[in-house]
Amino acid sequence: MSKSQKHEFQAETKQVLDIVVNSLYKDKEIFVRELISNASDALEKLRRTQLTEKDILDENLELEINLNTDDTTNQLIIQDFGIGMTEEELVKNLGTIAHSGSKEFLEALKQDGEKNDALIGKFGVGFYSVFMVADSVEVYSRSWQKKGKGYCWKSDGGGTYEIDEIDGQRRGTKIVIKLKEDFTDYAKEDRVKDIVKKYSAFVQFPVSVNGEKVNTVDAIWLKSKSEVTEEEYEEFYKFQGNDYEGPLMRMHFSADAPLEINSLLFVPKRNMEKMGMMRNENKVALHCRKVLIDAEPKNLFPEWLRFLRGVVDSSDLPLNVSRETMQDSELLRKLNQVLTKRFIRFLTEQSNKQEDTYLEFWKEFGPLIKEGVATDFTYKDDLSKLLLFESTALEPGKLTGLDAYVDRMASDQKEILFLFGKSRKSIEAGPYLEALRARSLEVLLLTEPVDEYVMQSVREFKDLKVISADSEDLKLEKLDDQPEGEALDKKSLKKLCKWLKEKLKDRLSDVEEGERLIESPVCVVGSDAMGGASARRIMKMMQGPDDEMPAQTVKLQINPRNGIIRGLSSMIDKDEDTALLVSNQLIDNALASANLLDDPREMIARSYQALEKITA
Ligand code: ADP
Ligand code: MG
Repeated sequence: MSKSQKHEFQAETKQVLDIVVNSLYKDKEIFVRELISNASDALEKLRRTQLTEKDILDENLELEINLNTDDTTNQLIIQDFGIGMTEEELVKNLGTIAHSGSKEFLEALKQDGEKNDALIGKFGVGFYSVFMVADSVEVYSRSWQKKGKGYCWKSDGGGTYEIDEIDGQRRGTKIVIKLKEDFTDYAKEDRVKDIVKKYSAFVQFPVSVNGEKVNTVDAIWLKSKSEVTEEEYEEFYKFQGNDYEGPLMRMHFSADAPLEINSLLFVPKRNMEKMGMMRNENKVALHCRKVLIDAEPKNLFPEWLRFLRGVVDSSDLPLNVSRETMQDSELLRKLNQVLTKRFIRFLTEQSNKQEDTYLEFWKEFGPLIKEGVATDFTYKDDLSKLLLFESTALEPGKLTGLDAYVDRMASDQKEILFLFGKSRKSIEAGPYLEALRARSLEVLLLTEPVDEYVMQSVREFKDLKVISADSEDLKLEKLDDQPEGEALDKKSLKKLCKWLKEKLKDRLSDVEEGERLIESPVCVVGSDAMGGASARRIMKMMQGPDDEMPAQTVKLQINPRNGIIRGLSSMIDKDEDTALLVSNQLIDNALASANLLDDPREMIARSYQALEKITA
């Protein structure tokens, strides 16, 4: 055995070591991930070498990674039978910073000052992370070449390291970690197993802890679609997504530009949020060449895609990035962009080609798509195409999207129309639909409280305004055939309007003849501007049940052909009290039809007065 060689760490390495140990990672446990990742790289390199070289040391050793814990001596050992290192390589790889990532890191450090943590995380400093937890580290290594020897590299992470020549070393690398007193946890079998499961479940080589194999699933997202069976996809999803049943949809997607991405995304069958159980948390794990970077990265997808499960793997990611830094990195933003766009495209395809599956998706996750429309301006237009509603053009229960609505529209129609109500039946019974029916205009029927808010966000679709059919802004053409029935003469109509406006000025901002009324006596119309009917309903939806709504005045349209209106017209001179009672009741009814009646108590009291009059 030759005598021990003492070496100084390269000055820059010392600097890096110092920073890594003191400030880089909050999660100390990731040193296990780093070492396994290095072992996995070493095995991968050996595998590639085997393709071209014949003379390989210990040809029959398994390509696997073994961890051993000893909680009596507080040691953790990580061993691989990979490519190994020569003496030269030990010096170069572990004593200097040769790889470009760390070089860049130091360059950037020089410019930005020493304690810039955000900067630190962007660059690779993997192996040195072991010194966060180690008193001393021994790296036993032997290169794959038969002529070489074995060496032991040793350091306590201070300024120096030693290298000894040793006998009896097999191919590959064994790292013996003597743990600091505070971190003896990492010498416990269960703890280490948990960490390995968490970070390395999909490392492509077998990983064992104290002889027991821990990782079971391989990186199917890196394979091509034709290489993966349905069962494998399903098994992987269940394992990764923690689900007892298979997924509803999956998207297996790879790209080379602008980023290298391999991703496998799943939509679960059920939306936990919908069942009121809990809020979905993004569970798409971020990997770099099979090694887990972050199991639940925060900004990989927009909020409204929080139901997704699966894996995103990008070799453009720096492996040693800290979670905090990752979350606001430029790279993550780009990944987010590419993946979100691609997933929306996938959903759009599904909605066209796999209608049944898409419908199931919509039933579960529709609320989240709506949330996207309402909150994420970037994707609003694309997401609008994914919305589905009931419609007067379709039988109950059937749904249509906005594209299909536009396809059905007459060429002179200028708006996409919708009406909100508690149910399809209640909208159909209301006063608004009749005028639109008479003009053969299709109306989307919105029955979820958030729908109206969503439509206000959509606002325009393919250059067409999207508006509520009870909006003032909707201008209806005069009907060619006037509706049947005798109508009030112009003079009486004008007088009635004036009377109503005067007597009920607390409740009415305006009164006019209603071009949209066929059967019903009255309806209210609102402006879509703030304070209009839509806005008021949205406000109501957002308020608590006991909150007082501010007083409202509405615009009333009256139907001169309706019997009640004609009767009212002749009553105003003869019996003003009753006329007022009837008018108030008409306004209440119109408000109720528009879902704008704030409190039914007054209306009930009034209707008793009316009943009293009738029965007197
Ligand atoms: P990186 O993995 O980003 O290159 P690390 O600090 O993790 O940086 O490792 C530095 C270098 O040390 C590696 O590039 C590799 O050449 C060498 N190395 C580390 N661990 C092993 C190992 N188990 N087997 C062979 N080489 C290794
Ligand atoms: Mg590494």
